[in-house]
Amino acid sequence: MKLKTLEMELQRLGGFVKPRTSLEQYQTPAPLAARLLYHALMKEDIEGKVVCDLGSGTGVLAIGAYLLGAESVIGIEIDREAIRAAEENAALLDAEVTFIAADIRKGLPIELAAGCDTVVMNPPFGAQKAHADRPFIDGAITIAPVIYGIFNAGSIPFIRAYTDKRATIDEQIGGALPIKRTFSFHTRDIQEIRVEILRLTRTR
Ligand code: SAH
Repeated sequence: MKLKTLEMELQRLGGFVKPRTSLEQYQTPAPLAARLLYHALMKEDIEGKVVCDLGSGTGVLAIGAYLLGAESVIGIEIDREAIRAAEENAALLDAEVTFIAADIRKGLPIELAAGCDTVVMNPPFGAQKAHADRPFIDGAITIAPVIYGIFNAGSIPFIRAYTDKRATIDEQIGGALPIKRTFSFHTRDIQEIRVEILRLTRTR
């Protein structure tokens, strides 16, 4: 599948019905999701791999990974309404993805005990609750040797320090995350947030 085709497919997916601020529910826009996934595909981290999406939301990253040939895909998400939307999205594109309801702060569900090959995630940035991103980073390093994450631009020093001897940032891809006016505290209709896609590899 070509990059443009993936982007167009992901564009068809529905969003959060009632986005919850406290959970930082922002759907990754199709172009950004496609860019992350295609990059991971070229690095041979998707095709034939077991892929996990932490905080899978409406499923855009998980479903995209399936469309690019992942062997199996599991999405973990705290919000059952989001899971319902993700399941509808998966059905729309004939994607076989298992979505599991779990709170990543409370440890990883048993379904992930065997680990996976690659994690893809757009975790909360910690804008609403400080350090909300940490359990995602910790969980990802626990279950996978390779992680692709979307982070606020400028997060690299924090992530480098936080993951210290556990993982290395080995690639950095810039991008923008256009966020539609969703919450009352947003003052413009479209806000652009600079983000970075980072590839981390586990060191031990
Ligand atoms: N991965 C999706 C959603 C990103 S928004 C996408 O790329 O579009 C972040 C997601 O993490 C939201 O769906 C939110 O509900 C979920 N989330 C936040 N805290 C969580 C937690 N503690 N455990 C599991 N999921 C959580």
